[in-house]
Amino acid sequence: MVSSSPVFRFAPSPNGRLHLGHAYSALVNERLAARFGGELLLRIEDIDRIRCRPEFEQSIHDDLAWLGISFSADARRQSEHFDDYRRALDRLDAMGLGYPCFCSRQEVKDAVKRREAEAGTPWPRDPDGAALYPGTCRLLSEADVQRRLEAGEPHVLRLAMDRALARTAGEGLFYRLFDDNGEEREVTVDPARWGDVVLARKDVPTSYHLSVVVDDALQGVSHVVRGEDLEAATDVHVLLQRLLGLPTPRYHFHRLLIDETGQKLAKSRLSRSLTDLRAEGVTPEAIRRQLGFT
Ligand code: GLU
Repeated sequence: MVSSSPVFRFAPSPNGRLHLGHAYSALVNERLAARFGGELLLRIEDIDRIRCRPEFEQSIHDDLAWLGISFSADARRQSEHFDDYRRALDRLDAMGLGYPCFCSRQEVKDAVKRREAEAGTPWPRDPDGAALYPGTCRLLSEADVQRRLEAGEPHVLRLAMDRALARTAGEGLFYRLFDDNGEEREVTVDPARWGDVVLARKDVPTSYHLSVVVDDALQGVSHVVRGEDLEAATDVHVLLQRLLGLPTPRYHFHRLLIDETGQKLAKSRLSRSLTDLRAEGVTPEAIRRQLGFT
C-alpha cells in the first residue's frame, strides 16, 4: 500500500470523547495534507479493550464528520489487526530482542526504591517521568522463565534496549522533522532514554509503540502529524522501524492546547467534549475559527 503522494493520518483512541485538542490535531493534519497534496487516513487506536468503548468510537466518527473532516479510506481499527502485531513481535523475538517480564508495577517500584537506596542517587527516569525498568527479569534463569511461562504467569514482553541498540549500531538513528512550509531537518534519536520499553502488555498482546509503528507502515503513512507530547516517544518508534525493516515517516509535532488552569486538555479532566459543544449548538465553523483554521 505504498503511495507516492503523501499520506497523513489522524489516530485517536476511543477511550473517551474527543475534545478541542483532538479537533486541533485533526485540523492540523487536514491542513498539512491539503497543503502537501496528500491524503488523510483515520486510525482507531483501540488496543485497550477495557478502556475503549463502542460509543466513544461512534462519537469519533460523528464528531469528525460534523467538523467536516473527511478521510480517503475506511478507518483502520487496531483491534482487528492483532495478527499484524504478533508477526512483528515474533520477528523481534527471533532476533533475541524481546524478553518476558513478570514484575508487577509494585515490584518495579520496590526494585527502583532499593536501587536508589543502594546507590544514594535517583534512579533514571524516562522522558515521561517514569522510572526506567531496573532489569529484574533479565536476571532470571532460562529454566525459571520457562517454568513461569508454562505456569501461565501474567507477563509483559519488553525490548532489551541494549541489544536492540547494538543491532542498529553504526546505522545512525534519526527521522526527518518537517514544518508547516515543508522545510525539513534531521533529528537524531536517543531511544536508550526509555530503557527496556514494553512491547506487549499483560492484558493486550501489543503496545502503543509497537502497533503505531506497524500500522503507520501498513497504511503507507509518509507524514505523521501529532502532538508534541509524543515527540520523545518517536525515538522508540524510529528504533522499532529500523529493527523491523520498516520505513521511517517524516514527523511534525504540533503544540498542545491548554485549558484555563494551564494544563493540557485531556479526556481524564473535564475538558468539554466536541459532542457536548455540538449539543450546545456550537457550530463547526466556530470551532475552526476558535482554533485558528479559517
Ligand atoms: N492514539 C494516540 C492518542 O490518541 C495518538 C497516537 C499517534 O498519533 O501516534 O493520543
